[in-house]
Amino acid sequence: MTPILTAEDLRFSFPGEVAALRGLSLAVPEGRSLAILGPNGAGKSTLLLHLNGTLRPGSGRITMAGQPADYSRKGLVRWRERVALVLQDADDQLFAATVFEDVSFGPLNLGLGEPEARARVEEALAALGIADLRDRATHMLSGGQKKRVAIAGALAMRPEVLLLDEPTAGLDAEGAAQLVTTLKTLAADGVTLVFSTHDVELAWILADDVVLFRDGQAMAQGEATAILTDRAMLARVGLHPPIL
Ligand code: ADP
Ligand code: MG
Repeated sequence: MTPILTAEDLRFSFPGEVAALRGLSLAVPEGRSLAILGPNGAGKSTLLLHLNGTLRPGSGRITMAGQPADYSRKGLVRWRERVALVLQDADDQLFAATVFEDVSFGPLNLGLGEPEARARVEEALAALGIADLRDRATHMLSGGQKKRVAIAGALAMRPEVLLLDEPTAGLDAEGAAQLVTTLKTLAADGVTLVFSTHDVELAWILADDVVLFRDGQAMAQGEATAILTDRAMLARVGLHPPIL
């Protein structure tokens, strides 16, 4: 099956920085959950910003559904409808005064009419279990609630791929467990998930496949059950097998 997204030999440096991506290649299989697993500074966030077209590689290429990425203005709009990114810090993503307005922003921006936009918002709020928060002020919410609003905003675009940067970072144990349950439900409904993490246990419970990431390169990609039980392989990126 054609992967929904591929990255081929991506190279990228921030101005004045050492290279953040150094010949990165990976494939995102459709309808599965992929963990980008590696230590801090490995380049995970930089990679996710490439996978929805926010950053453009210095060299190398990205394909979507077998087609080269389209960096025209129109292409980027379409790309971000199909591939939604949820940032690590929800405060970077929430702008509107209320939850309902925030989640409505994307669908209204798509040019959808009021009834269709409303239907999408209701569906996304229900999927994240936050329908009761609709009229709450976004800035008053807990970290876990904000994260759910940010994910609902992404889902309201009905993306084919949902990218999540360190989805459980900053959440308490209960909030993290609830979010994992929700993400598993989305995955079971057919949304392709790609999430970055330095947490081997999170990769174990949420990922079908794992890319081991270090120094801007994929050291290995394969089924989670194979990669995460390979002690020698994990040691190459400074990680240990999950505690089961
Ligand atoms: P990770 O998400 O795996 O922790 P990042 O993608 O954030 O890694 O960072 C990869 C490298 O790029 C690091 O060396 C980091 O310092 C650098 N970097 C990340 N963001 C920026 C930025 N906005 N400007 C300059 N350097 C950056
Ligand atoms: Mg990061």
